[in-house]
This record gives sequence, C-alpha cells and structure tokens, in this order.
Amino acid sequence: ANYIVGLSGGIGSGKTTVSKLFEQHGVSVIDADIIARDVVVKGSEALTLIIEYFGENFLLPTGELDRTKLRTRIFSNSKDKLWLNNLLHPLIRKNIIQALEQAPSDYCLLVAPLLLENNLQHLVDRVLIVDVSEEIQIKRTLTRDKSSEVEIRAIINSQISRHSRQQAADDIINNNDTDLAKLEENVRLLHQKYLENSKIAE
Ligand code: ATP
Repeated sequence: ANYIVGLSGGIGSGKTTVSKLFEQHGVSVIDADIIARDVVVKGSEALTLIIEYFGENFLLPTGELDRTKLRTRIFSNSKDKLWLNNLLHPLIRKNIIQALEQAPSDYCLLVAPLLLENNLQHLVDRVLIVDVSEEIQIKRTLTRDKSSEVEIRAIINSQISRHSRQQAADDIINNNDTDLAKLEENVRLLHQKYLENSKIAE
C-alpha cells in the first residue's frame, strides 16, 4: 500500500475492535505484535541469539521462547532490556516495512500498541488513536483478561499518557460508548477519508 495509517491506543482501548471494523471494508491490517512474535519463533536466528545470551533455561520444553520469563528479566535488568531491544527492534521494523509494502489494499492499517513508544509513527502517513477514559479502559481490560487492577494500572503507567497520545494523533476515534453502531459509522467516515488520501498520495 502507498498510504499507511498507524492505529494505536492504550491497553484495552479497543484497537482490535476498531481494526476489525476497518477489515470489513477490505483494508489490510498489519499487526506489529504478531510481527514481533514471529521474529522469535522456534528456529529463528533471533531466538538462537537470545538463547546464547540468556541461556537455555529461557526456552520452554516445546523449544519456544519463554516470553514470561524474558519479560520478567528485562523488567528488572535495563542492560539486558537494551541488548534485547537492540537485537529485536531493527528486525521488527524491517519486517513491518516489508509487510506494509506487500499489503494489497489501497491503504493499510498498522496496528501497534506501542506505535509512539517505539517510534514507529515515522513509518506511517497518519496516526489514528483509539481513545477511552482510564476508567473504561481498566473496566474492559479487567473483564477481558485475568490480570488484576494493580497489574493493569502498572501497564497503563508503562505506556505513554493519554494526553501525549492525543497530542500525537491526526485522528481520534472515541470508544467510550458501548453503541457499536456509532463506532461503525465513525470507522466508515474515516475509511472514506483515508481512501481519498490514498488516491491523492498515488
Ligand atoms: P489490547 O491492547 O489490550 O490488546 P485493544 O486495544 O486491542 O486491547 P480490544 O481488545 O479491542 O482492545 O478491546 C478491549 C475489550 O473491550 C474487549 O473485550 C472488547 O470486546 C471490549 N470493547 C471494545 N470496545 C468496546 C465498546 N465500544 N463497548 C463495549 N466493549 C468494548
């Protein structure tokens, strides 16, 4: 695609919900989290390097990466976190660019929870933010996940603030309402606008 919209928002804000609505209009959706997971699959070069650095005990019995263990380690060790990010970020970036180039629709969506935190906004033409109040964000994440409110608040605090996200947005889609028809209508309007923009960008 020659026009790319980056979709982001905090945990439980509704990124997946919104991206599915765009998909219904035939828009290709590239998920940065899936690409990030794919670069460390069993047998990958990156996984080999990670195991050389962290040790065999970071593998699960299945031969896959023990992500929970790795997450805990880098949470408490900034040197290891830096090492890991230096290895993975360029790879993830390269694969995202490749996927965006190959996306067949007129414009495509890059869904990235950490679009701004990881400086991926430079890869996109427009930033779309799904915005909800923190109260709703916590309530919906609690309903969906097994995490506690304390854990969810810790994740929210590790992400950029709602205000910074709003500042970086070209478009904001409000997802406080439970009325999905309204959300669908907002997506439809944005979709039309992005289609127009992609034609101009050609
Ligand atoms: P994460 O970053 O944590 O993966 P997300 O931003 O992709 O989250 P979703 O999974 O789309 O968010 O939404 C979080 C939860 O809230 C889901 O269970 C979803 O079904 C629900 N939800 C999303 N939008 C609404 C809405 N407008 N009304 C009611 N529930 C909603």
